[in-house]
Amino acid sequence: MTQTLVRGRLLSFVRRPQAIDDTASYRYEEDGGLLVEDGRIVAAGPYTTVRAEAAADAEEIDHRPHLILPGLIDTHLHFPQMQVIGSYAANLLEWLNTYTFPEECRFVESEHAARIARHFYDEMIRHGTTTAVAYCSVHKASADAYFAEALKRGMRMVGGKVMMDRNAPQGLLDTPQIGYDETRAVIAEWHGKGRNHVAITPRFAITSTPAQMEMTAALAREFPDLHIQTHLSENHDEIRFTGELYPDAIDYTDIYAKYGLLGPKSLFGHCIHLSEREADAMSEAGAVAVHCPTSNLFLGSGLFPLKALSRREKPVRIGVATDIGGGTSYSMLKTMDEAYKIQQLLGERLNPFESFYHMTLGNAEALSLSDHIGTLEAGTDADFVVLDAAATPAMALKMEVTRSLTDELFLLQTMGDDRAVRETYVAGKAMKAAL
Ligand SMILES: [Zn+2]
Repeated sequence: MTQTLVRGRLLSFVRRPQAIDDTASYRYEEDGGLLVEDGRIVAAGPYTTVRAEAAADAEEIDHRPHLILPGLIDTHLHFPQMQVIGSYAANLLEWLNTYTFPEECRFVESEHAARIARHFYDEMIRHGTTTAVAYCSVHKASADAYFAEALKRGMRMVGGKVMMDRNAPQGLLDTPQIGYDETRAVIAEWHGKGRNHVAITPRFAITSTPAQMEMTAALAREFPDLHIQTHLSENHDEIRFTGELYPDAIDYTDIYAKYGLLGPKSLFGHCIHLSEREADAMSEAGAVAVHCPTSNLFLGSGLFPLKALSRREKPVRIGVATDIGGGTSYSMLKTMDEAYKIQQLLGERLNPFESFYHMTLGNAEALSLSDHIGTLEAGTDADFVVLDAAATPAMALKMEVTRSLTDELFLLQTMGDDRAVRETYVAGKAMKAAL
């Protein structure tokens, strides 16, 4: 088996940084080597050590002076919303009804779904994202297109056919039985094929009747290892409407809890306005709150208390994500730039090590996939990204006076986007150059 030896400055986290000077939370190699074989990292460390382990005929790729990090991970976005991004709307519910639902109706056509899937994966690679967790549309064809393209590119992707049976146009509704049957069919056809993971995906409580929620509960019982994704507590009008639809629930989170959807594989998009009781319930269940900063600012949804939720006595697990197309950028760098600003507005500091932890190992932990992705440890998938903090003239100028790794990471986060991604490796293969 041929080996590839990739040389550069390696940065990989081992746990969440407690403070800006918490150097034990990451491993950094100024002159590092990654040895890749058969889609996996087989050795990582100082270049000279790894060079000595490599086969004599190993192909060598030199990325110095750039940084090599684990591939970036996006834990919440909508694959059928690539042509919704940048739509002018006052708030969440108007944005859904005016732009998003009509656009998602088009995914009943397999050809359209396949075309957008190609663009979707091109953007992931262009932005250094090697794993993403996406909502497809209600149509099974959209999930087929999503997973077929992931398989073609060899990427580890999570996704699900959306279930929704009310409060949307006719073309976007299934029924409790159809939603159940088609989700089962998607699981049978795609879960575990290549690196695909299927997620149980009720859009949110507003668009699912109690009868459909019963069916999602049945799926969660039958397939306890699957991820579950939905939306929670994004916007005050949404929260009020949800309460009217489920008058017996104590609060929004309690609806999902009643149907057995609150667990360690559950990803809840937004969670901006949780009560203390809801945050406790999330924490006790090990459920994940997924922060989508560019979307929250764009739709005026609110300021997510990332730092406050993580330092509670009962901390809430946190993921970070773009939420395309409510979000405004495919870039996880831009995403954490906006996350930083939201914490600033809340009087909190989010240091650059925490930000890069969240984009990589943090999100892998949020997905319970850190044995495979989110690190450069030997034995994990060879998904990694090469970042250049001097990618644009303005960044290069600032790099002239940038002295530390901390400052370099912060510059990448503040000014970086797809131009700062020099290369994206998926299972050891350079993908960006091939776009
Ligand atoms: Zn969303």
